[in-house]
Amino acid sequence: MRPMPKEYNFKEIECKWQQKWEEIGIYRYDWSDKKRVPYSIDTPPPYPSGELHMGNVLNWTYFDMLARYKRMQGFNVLFPQGWDCHGLGIEIQVEKTHNIRKRDLPSDQFRKMCMELVEKYIAIMKEGILKLGCSIDWTTEYRTMDPDYWRRTQLSFILLQKSGFMYQGTHPVNWCPRDETAIADAEVDYVKREGTLYYIRFQLEGSSKYLLIATSRPEFIPACVAVEINPKDERYSKYIGRKISVPLMNRSVTIIGDECVDPSFGTGVVQICTYGDKDDVKTVLKHKLPVIRLLTESGRISEAGCKYTGLHVNQARAAIVGDLTEAGLLEKTEKIMQEVGVCERCKTHIEILERKQWFMNTRKLTEAVETAANEIVWYPDYMKNRLVDWAKSLDWDWVISRQRVFATPIPVWYCKSCGELIFAEESWVPIDPKLERPKTDKCHKCGCKEFIAEQDVFDTWMDSSITCAVHAGWPDRADWKHLFPADVHPSGTDIIRTWAYYLMVRHLALFDEKPFKSCLINGMVLGSDGRKMSKSLKNYAAAPEVLNKNGADATRQWAAGGGATGSDIPYRAQDVEYGRRFLVKLWNASGFTSKLLDDYKPELQENLKLQPLDKWVISKAENLTRKVTEEFEKCQFNIAIEDIRNFTWHVFCDFYLEAVKDRLYNPDLHGKEKKVAAQYTLYEVLYRILQLLAPITPHLTEEIYRYMFADNKGFSSLQISPWPQFDSAKVDEYAEKNGDLIIALISEARHDKAENKLPLNTPMKSLKVYAGNDENAKVICSASGDIAGTLKVARIEVLAEKRMEGRQVSSYDIYIKGEY
Ligand SMILES: [Zn+2]
Ligand SMILES: [Zn+2]
Repeated sequence: MRPMPKEYNFKEIECKWQQKWEEIGIYRYDWSDKKRVPYSIDTPPPYPSGELHMGNVLNWTYFDMLARYKRMQGFNVLFPQGWDCHGLGIEIQVEKTHNIRKRDLPSDQFRKMCMELVEKYIAIMKEGILKLGCSIDWTTEYRTMDPDYWRRTQLSFILLQKSGFMYQGTHPVNWCPRDETAIADAEVDYVKREGTLYYIRFQLEGSSKYLLIATSRPEFIPACVAVEINPKDERYSKYIGRKISVPLMNRSVTIIGDECVDPSFGTGVVQICTYGDKDDVKTVLKHKLPVIRLLTESGRISEAGCKYTGLHVNQARAAIVGDLTEAGLLEKTEKIMQEVGVCERCKTHIEILERKQWFMNTRKLTEAVETAANEIVWYPDYMKNRLVDWAKSLDWDWVISRQRVFATPIPVWYCKSCGELIFAEESWVPIDPKLERPKTDKCHKCGCKEFIAEQDVFDTWMDSSITCAVHAGWPDRADWKHLFPADVHPSGTDIIRTWAYYLMVRHLALFDEKPFKSCLINGMVLGSDGRKMSKSLKNYAAAPEVLNKNGADATRQWAAGGGATGSDIPYRAQDVEYGRRFLVKLWNASGFTSKLLDDYKPELQENLKLQPLDKWVISKAENLTRKVTEEFEKCQFNIAIEDIRNFTWHVFCDFYLEAVKDRLYNPDLHGKEKKVAAQYTLYEVLYRILQLLAPITPHLTEEIYRYMFADNKGFSSLQISPWPQFDSAKVDEYAEKNGDLIIALISEARHDKAENKLPLNTPMKSLKVYAGNDENAKVICSASGDIAGTLKVARIEVLAEKRMEGRQVSSYDIYIKGEY
């Protein structure tokens, strides 16, 4: 046993172990191992945002605690790491940084700029993940922007096209006019805003009467294709089938009836435009109405807008409202609160445009998603409903094409002559159709030899929604099903509707199998005041600062203990500080213990004479092991850390260590056997504490392990020592009950010293104990050596009689009286 340094230098310790673990390679998944059961973690590849934030700290700590726990359980753990590089976020940043738009330069140059930015961001995030001490197998690192990854995305598309899940269609889609691309439902955020409701007169044809229509989007009047009322609405039902003029447009539309119209909203008369909102889409489809393409891809009025052509939507609104006022058609306006959809990335008001797009037929999988969701174990269970509800709420199929640059190319060409679609074959990928011809000499339909490349690219979720199979080795390893479905998919409450959902539909469609067996959900990190963390609210904590100041092990305790799994947890600096104080306490206690164990030979111990307090703490440690194991199994990290800290701090340090000191210092007085029994107990219980803590605070536990246990236990790292098995033979309820009594007695005597303003090490001339009965007296006598030693009592007298004299020991019928 080597003496431990006095100071706990977390910076040095953490840095050292992060390097050594990587050197000895204990985090590598062993692909050739046929004996150990594999455990695969579907680490969601993060979107490199250029900063590791406290939310990342929370979710990586979750993944890592699980990985470390499972490794100690004897599993061959796959903890991979990828980077989800593509997407709008990076493109927008590049555009802003260089003050350009995507179309200003050739796509390969723009792409290169995106890749450079991504690499910069990855480096920052990676540094943070390493500092947090994550046990990732870095040999698995991948980037979705690499052609080798495109290959997998493109292959999955080809397979799904063959099985009828992919189709091209002209359907209305959510559109971001700023980014000039289609976006999926999941990328639309809804915000509440104040808007204006305009009451506009629509003249009935062949009559002097008009109907009043309330709309918040008068700029869509040029795209009005019908006026709709509820046929049950007696005010208007007589007008169904009649013609009505579209204001300012010199044309008329038909009044149609539909029970969807809410007679109590606005005036009960609505204009149907292509497309003001999702309801318009439904009505147009249902009543087979014509479509007027009013908006261009950049959110301007097209030629269909007559005199308003070329205006931006907002300008068009002002112009149209002005013209309506002048024509006397605007009756009144009123302010309303409305919920509008905005682009998740750039917060621009989204529009609905009809353009040719690629879709995945996801809606036909809704039932399969629900079945799979029910088969999966969710931590916590109620999160399952978020996925099922989301799947059921979807009106449209998933639009998988984007009109962007930095993304995986869609491997498709069109025949220049007949327009026939030419799909890449499985052996052609990775391929960029914009740079390469199809590997076929002519169109199989018309024989034409010229092709036009598909310009659209994939939604970035097409890359990241196949990770469960990719991590397992698909499509290259024949044995990839060995690791599929993944054992756990960790996710955040904010990405269930995207990540969990897309993983589901893609793997179900590709392999007719659910992607993962369990789903571990983390909540969001809130500011110290319980509000969303934000720099402007001054409740923001920067993860690198927190890690630098307190170290990984303290920060990880906050992540583990901040709140129940799946719930939102506030970042509180005092939680991290408490974590650090705990580590210092454990460090000091271990250092002290190592001195007490100076002459201890762990390998020579047999026929131990365990004393009541030894049995007490051993039994408690055993019960703790059972509890903590159950808590890890249920991913209840916050309960596990609390249980371990309470045991360590109070049971082990405050009571046991104090109570056996004298036995260890004075073997002549107490006997050598009792000293050895205490040494054995200290050694094994401390080792147990380190093992249970190892998944949560890996660095400090490893360091103490090296000083005190490595020589005897023999594992190259505590991280690969076998997780302790609960041993019911070591649980001794009788010993626990007796030990509790002895500890209560010692505490009461200490209180007595404290109340008499005496230091705890003040010697006592005598201690008289009225034990209340024979049984108690026997228990107290059996530990009289430890009691006397701890309290520095010269003479201890235990009487079986019941006498209420002196101080009562807790709720026992025991009274004590000390003399100093
Ligand atoms: Zn946008
Ligand atoms: Zn052709």
